[in-house]
Amino acid sequence: MTTAQKETMGFQTEVKQMLHLMIHSLYSNKEIFLRELISNASDACDKLRFEALNQDGLLEGDSELKISIDFNEAANTVTITDNGIGMNREEVIANLGTIAKSGTAQFLKDMSGDDKKDANLIGQFGVGFYSSFIVADKVEVTTRRAGSSDDQGVCWTSAGEGEFTIEGVEKAARGTRIVMHIKSEENEFANGSRLRNLVKKYADHISVPVEMLKEISPSEAGEEKETAETPEWEAVNSAKALWTRGKTDIKEDEYQEFYKHVSSDYEDALTWSHNKVEGKLDYTSLLYVPKRPPFDLWNREGSRGVKLYVQRVFIMDDAEQFLPPYLRFIKGVVDSNDLPLNVSREILQSNASITSMRSALTKRILDMLKKLSRKDEDKYQEFWKGFGQVLKEGPADDFANKEKIAELFRFTSTHSGDDKQSVALDAYIERCDEKQDKIYYLTAENYLTASRSPHLEVFRKKGVEVLLLTDRVDEWMISHLSEFKGKTFEDVTKGELDLGDGKDEKEVEEAQKQHADVIARVKAALKDKVEDVRISSRLTDSAACLVVGKEEMGMQMRRMLEAAGQALPESKRVLEINMAHPLIVKMDVQTDEERFEDMVELVYEQAQLAEGSQLEDPAGYVDRINKLLVNLLEA
Ligand code: ADP
Ligand code: MG
Repeated sequence: MTTAQKETMGFQTEVKQMLHLMIHSLYSNKEIFLRELISNASDACDKLRFEALNQDGLLEGDSELKISIDFNEAANTVTITDNGIGMNREEVIANLGTIAKSGTAQFLKDMSGDDKKDANLIGQFGVGFYSSFIVADKVEVTTRRAGSSDDQGVCWTSAGEGEFTIEGVEKAARGTRIVMHIKSEENEFANGSRLRNLVKKYADHISVPVEMLKEISPSEAGEEKETAETPEWEAVNSAKALWTRGKTDIKEDEYQEFYKHVSSDYEDALTWSHNKVEGKLDYTSLLYVPKRPPFDLWNREGSRGVKLYVQRVFIMDDAEQFLPPYLRFIKGVVDSNDLPLNVSREILQSNASITSMRSALTKRILDMLKKLSRKDEDKYQEFWKGFGQVLKEGPADDFANKEKIAELFRFTSTHSGDDKQSVALDAYIERCDEKQDKIYYLTAENYLTASRSPHLEVFRKKGVEVLLLTDRVDEWMISHLSEFKGKTFEDVTKGELDLGDGKDEKEVEEAQKQHADVIARVKAALKDKVEDVRISSRLTDSAACLVVGKEEMGMQMRRMLEAAGQALPESKRVLEINMAHPLIVKMDVQTDEERFEDMVELVYEQAQLAEGSQLEDPAGYVDRINKLLVNLLEA
């Protein structure tokens, strides 16, 4: 194919929506288009350098990779040129006509229409190339893939509305040139000092030089014409990969700008850790914790992992082998001096030094989070809200570090007083009685149900703290954690209660004997609905509660598995009744057998309601209540 005819094509629907959202919600931070375009140009140079490792020819005799930025004040244009990898026709159509991230359609559906909120969400999604249309009313991309002949150039143009045109062109230099026709009201951007400042601000950390024409000082301009005829380019950025610089030389906002480049995040990072390791392994890592989860955190195909460099040469994006899955939200770079330049994903999977790096990086991150939690509880809370659920996969994923991971957990508890997850396990242990060898917890669908659960009554009375776990994954997580600093976890809704003081046991036994009659009657009334009936040592105020066997699955896990479509064996529970409760007292003396059975049924159903369970026969419950009410009102 030689120069193809000009063709007009429509954008994918998602692109149209994205363009619209971008233009309408990101107007307060217009200048980021330059960061995005430079970031892409830098990626293109990285990719070329990588591909040229095996294919010398790709460099076409021009191995000085660079980005240049030019402008024309009169024509109101800004031009960004790179001699990176470039794109062929198919790549242009795919990259600049569609959005390939999975989950995009759903993401766009979730947009609220409120500009401020949407701006935040788009930030999490990553703004990218299309952000050029925030300030331009026409964008022309001329590109040629490295290694292809001059007549294989492609010119893409669009006004950022419904469509774009694409046309084959001659292009002598490989790489990409983007001409932005700036909207007249945004003409401040077609200006040398404005652009220079932006490059300094957004691209100082980029490892390829970003050049602009040398500014002619007023005195020079007045002298000879010479300078104007042979324009001189100069690098505006320091063009040194940020992570190779010393920590003390790097300013906070340089770290933040670099973060945005590696993560495609629009917001600042929460914290980071930059380390140079020498010795048996030789590598540098710069790892960031984002402020908020990306839109695809729960998407299995979502991008995760760090950027891998070997001796400063970019090798791959999303190298997920360097971090365990429960740390998939971490962004950053790892630059190794040991790995071969031709390292592949397959090699990464079975390389012993990767395994050691992975465990060292994991420790770094856990330490970084620990430090954050000590230094700044508010920031840590922000982290916990966004990523706590992912971190809870830790004990199952990474047995060796489970205690370190668990130190990072935060829960609500009977002592925290509100639904904020703020109680650390260490704080729990510090507060509890020295002799208490258990960490008590209760799981429920939400904080209100948990905090009002009848199962907590005796704990409240004795002042024993109980963790209230309301995330779906909690029970599963606890089953993997099983203990923390020598104390085992105990579900307060399971088994016969043992508060460790030996007292309750005897009392219960006696009560059990004393009320053998009523127990037998209740059991008969409930037939095979429950496993057993017992006098409760848990309850002080409520009439009854349901308890599962010590070894059995808890209710939260059951609900989680059932929701995932698993068939579970039927589980019968034990009904515990409180003989001091007036309703139970009245029930005990009820001689009308039908009424007695109704009361038992009600007590059983109320125990289910109080723990947030669904009744099997809600209409039957309403009938029974109403029958009693009518009797009461007629009396
Ligand atoms: P991202 O950079 O997150 O992939 P962008 O919207 O910024 O998303 O860019 C989309 C794609 O377009 C890039 O992944 C890349 O393949 C291609 N692209 C953009 N700019 C260039 C460029 N200057 N050179 C080569 N390819 C580019
Ligand atoms: Mg990009």
